[in-house]
Amino acid sequence: PGQSDLVIVYHRLPYEEVIENGEMIRRRPTSPNGIIPTLLSFFADGKQGSWVAWSIHDDNKGKFESHTEVDASQYPKLVAARVPLTKEEVDIFYKRFSKEAFWPTLHTFWERAVFREDHWEVFLKVNKDFAERTAAEAAAGATIWIHDYNLWMVPAFLRELRPDVIIAFFHHTYFPSADVFNVLPWRKEIVGSLLQCDFVGFHIPRQAENFVDVVRGVTPVKVLERMSCAPRFLTYGCAVGLEEMVTEIQVNDRVVRLGAHPVGLDMNRVKTVLDDPGTKAKMAQLRFELSGTKLILSVERLDYTKGILEKLLAYERLLEDHPELISKITLMMVCVPAAKEMTVYRDLQNDIERAVGRINGRFSKVGWSPIQFFLRGFPFEDLVTYYAMADVMWITPLRDGLNLVAKEYVATQGMTEGTGVLVLSEFAGAAAELRGAVLANPHDPSEMVTACYLALTMKKAEAKGRIREAFHVVEHNDIRQWGLEFLEAVEQCKPKTTRLE
Ligand code: UDP
Repeated sequence: PGQSDLVIVYHRLPYEEVIENGEMIRRRPTSPNGIIPTLLSFFADGKQGSWVAWSIHDDNKGKFESHTEVDASQYPKLVAARVPLTKEEVDIFYKRFSKEAFWPTLHTFWERAVFREDHWEVFLKVNKDFAERTAAEAAAGATIWIHDYNLWMVPAFLRELRPDVIIAFFHHTYFPSADVFNVLPWRKEIVGSLLQCDFVGFHIPRQAENFVDVVRGVTPVKVLERMSCAPRFLTYGCAVGLEEMVTEIQVNDRVVRLGAHPVGLDMNRVKTVLDDPGTKAKMAQLRFELSGTKLILSVERLDYTKGILEKLLAYERLLEDHPELISKITLMMVCVPAAKEMTVYRDLQNDIERAVGRINGRFSKVGWSPIQFFLRGFPFEDLVTYYAMADVMWITPLRDGLNLVAKEYVATQGMTEGTGVLVLSEFAGAAAELRGAVLANPHDPSEMVTACYLALTMKKAEAKGRIREAFHVVEHNDIRQWGLEFLEAVEQCKPKTTRLE
């Protein structure tokens, strides 16, 4: 066994390597969310630990450094344990297979999925490498926290090597119903691997429940424990709500606990931006540029799961049905394009650009365009400025594990005592959590129009009350709380990991 009582297994390293003046330096990753800093914070008190992640290695470029420091001053006993992968392995395992086979299936777009046996072989090899490195890091009885579907097969390989450790897994994406998941050619292997965990976590109860159904499709399941989803989650009136969830199952001689732990925000990060005097100046500038129109904001990666075209069509219909809104509202769309090699997104980008062009062509007036379209990512500081200024935040995923943008908007509006309205797809995980949002079905154009119109015309007092309700949730369940609650739930597995009679 190794030395670490806590091992984080994450596809990315907790730092970025950049070459400056011919020298390689390590710096904090430009992570779009607070997950990496939160996971790092568990090692801030000098706790011994390992962070297992890949690092691209070319055999011709000298000796591979298997262990590196993460940050000796902040996390003195944390090491990065690196899994050497070739560029080709990363391309296939991460950029292609995960995005082409698993991502569409997980988000219920299984007809878009491409299943390739040769890619699965690479996936298995990479997962095995991760498991071997993890096994060598873990102290006896250590807790291993594995992140996301890219590493689905790690528990299976790891359990063979280390029957003594506690294995916990967290899904960062949506987890679909059995009707969809069971399409995966390797579902039995994946389920078999996840059943080697002691704890499997998801954002919301619906996803955990879907997992139990998926397991039932492979093997008999005995439900050992259930709990009510209220008051933490919506129990009805939302596509992803659920009244009761299974929290413990037994399959053969293994007991697996399940949990719903929606990721939260680093509230300080939002506050720091809002306290910065530069932010006030940016807000004033934006207010000037909007010249009195109401701002509807949309922020997402360019992905077919995000319902971008559906939003554009609904916006077009809003302008048709309510001509009085012409010149009075602006839709600002921030679309972060995917990496160039991800060709699956090319057609979608064309379709989006065409729709934006058509709508702007149809409705523009001198000095006013209905849509301000940005095909690029913005730094978080700029997003917070937009969140603070937006009268309506319009989030429309057809499927989403959670949706952090929704929470970031709520946090910003709540901290600035704003009267903005969150219009949220009822298919986003966050919909099960964020009371006070106006929910809509993104597949139903007329419901989308109604929801957006309601938000635009809502009385300030009602809007304020709604955003406060959502803010309460976001404030009390921040990212720190998420990490602590997850590890606490894993801790509870400990006495039960010995085999049952
Ligand atoms: N984001 C960003 N710049 C942008 C657009 C998005 O930094 O221009 C960040 C955003 O603040 C959020 C994350 O990217 O933290 C997106 O997370 P979300 O859960 O909404 O969607 P995902 O992209 O993970 O599906």
